[in-house]
Amino acid sequence: MKKNKPTTPADSKLPNAGAVLQSAGAGLPSGAPSKRICVIGCGTLGSYLIRRLLDLYGGAVEIIAVEMGDHKIRNEEEMGVTAEAGNTNVASLGRYFGLGGTSARWGGQVLFFDKRDNPENDPIWAEIIRINRKHQQTVLEQLLGNTARFVSINPEASGGELSASLKTGVWLRYNRRNLYKRMVRPVRSRVQLKTNRRIVGFQVEGNRIGAVVLKSADGKVEHLTADRFYLTAGALESCRLMLKLQADFPELHQQNTGKNFGDHISTELFVVQDARPVLDGIDFTPQVVNGSLVTKRIVALAGNGMVGFVHFVFNKDIRAFKFLKEMLFGKMSTSIGIKDLLQGAGFLLRFAWGMLVAKRLYVHPGQWSVQLDMEQAVPNSNSLALADLPDRYGEPALRINWDISKKDKEAIADVRNQVEALLRRNKLKFKAKYDPAVTGNKVEDVYHPVGFLPVGSVVSMTGKVKGLENLWHFSTAMLPSARSINPTAAVMCHIEEHLEEEAAG
Ligand SMILES: Cc1cc2nc3c(=O)[nH]c(=O)nc-3n(C[C@H](O)[C@H](O)[C@H](O)COP(=O)(O)OP(=O)(O)OC[C@H]3O[C@@H](n4cnc5c(N)ncnc54)[C@H](O)[C@@H]3O)c2cc1C
Repeated sequence: MKKNKPTTPADSKLPNAGAVLQSAGAGLPSGAPSKRICVIGCGTLGSYLIRRLLDLYGGAVEIIAVEMGDHKIRNEEEMGVTAEAGNTNVASLGRYFGLGGTSARWGGQVLFFDKRDNPENDPIWAEIIRINRKHQQTVLEQLLGNTARFVSINPEASGGELSASLKTGVWLRYNRRNLYKRMVRPVRSRVQLKTNRRIVGFQVEGNRIGAVVLKSADGKVEHLTADRFYLTAGALESCRLMLKLQADFPELHQQNTGKNFGDHISTELFVVQDARPVLDGIDFTPQVVNGSLVTKRIVALAGNGMVGFVHFVFNKDIRAFKFLKEMLFGKMSTSIGIKDLLQGAGFLLRFAWGMLVAKRLYVHPGQWSVQLDMEQAVPNSNSLALADLPDRYGEPALRINWDISKKDKEAIADVRNQVEALLRRNKLKFKAKYDPAVTGNKVEDVYHPVGFLPVGSVVSMTGKVKGLENLWHFSTAMLPSARSINPTAAVMCHIEEHLEEEAAG
């Protein structure tokens, strides 16, 4: 560990390194509390963390949030941070920049790990599950407000085998989806927000981060000191910064950083025709609870021990439904014309009736899809590294090496056979979409990047970065895998565990 005078290797590489605009602490209100906290990235988890810090400590802490975007949500191309990503879209379509980050565009489906996510009885997983179980109600209350009281996410298994594999998820209401707007904007006066500044480096003093280096798109550089730092810049950019930190300070090297990058690999297994979505007597129609949609999925366990989930995609080919989704998920233009909407008027009426009166999603019985999202095998050879070419900020871009392994495909084939048996048992009419015997199946990653800043080696269970006293990290990259859930809310449980640990001293 370096004990000599603070160094900032990032400085020497910056084009405008001499232009230090703001020294540490300049412009702070007098009498500011001593606990100065810097949150790097004000996206989904940064916003959650800021709000919880304020809830717990109020004015006893001073929070400075550094966000590379602003109120406009941008993709990586618009932001100027493109990655070399080969055959995955996780960087180009799987992350967004600006206040609220990816939560401005995400599905907002909230789920948690439970013991079915640990078929091998691994002790690290046992601890992750313990933390999820302990804090899931608090996280639900933070995200859903009063609705949390009406949702049972761990219904007692009863009846047959299928019922024991059910898992409940809750979609946040559309207007609760952007976590900055929901959690930080109402209390913005209590946070010092520095927008349009990207953290590009760290200043290390012994085993502490002394300051971070901020850079604006026009190359201006500032330093910011704090007592503690939270790295919540999203899984990919946080990993890029950790790789850079470790390249600049080799004594901080952690060999698992950037290794074992996994995602859910998603594929349509079957299309079921002319039937309601009822299997073994269980109705999979999503229910509306206080404006949030409550869904059921099936936890899938492959013969090789890998875990994923089977879920159902409804109304996929109905153009009026596609229009509704495009509008809700913030698309500025739509491919759907007036004629489609007029033809879909009957559907739209049934849909509105379902949401407002019957309190369930209207599902067109003509056809619906059975989709599998499978975790990727761990360990794997997927990785993240610093690329040679710089991005628009002059920073080393991220190189992402991602593929689907033979073991991943074996898991898909195995679960596919289990699902086929389930559909046959229920005497449903279906068409197979995924054929394990051919190579041209459509299989995609679905923006749940995990595994490359894992708990137990790179960070602790409460997010503390190994080897540093005052740096914490929270993103899905800290989870070894995504198993049977969309994983963001599970990370919020680790934030809660950290805050509880801090409060206990
Ligand atoms: C289409 C889509 C649907 C999804 N649906 C779901 C779902 O239903 N459920 C679920 O659990 N997950 C879902 N996900 C994944 C989920 O959105 C992410 O896991 C989550 O939003 C990540 O949160 P984060 O805070 O780590 O990153 P982000 O929300 O991306 O926030 C990172 C923030 O850091 C800022 N930033 C980045 N680099 C820097 C820097 N160097 N300096 C300063 N600021 C920086 C960014 O501008 C951004 O605001 C979905 C993802 C996508 C793309």
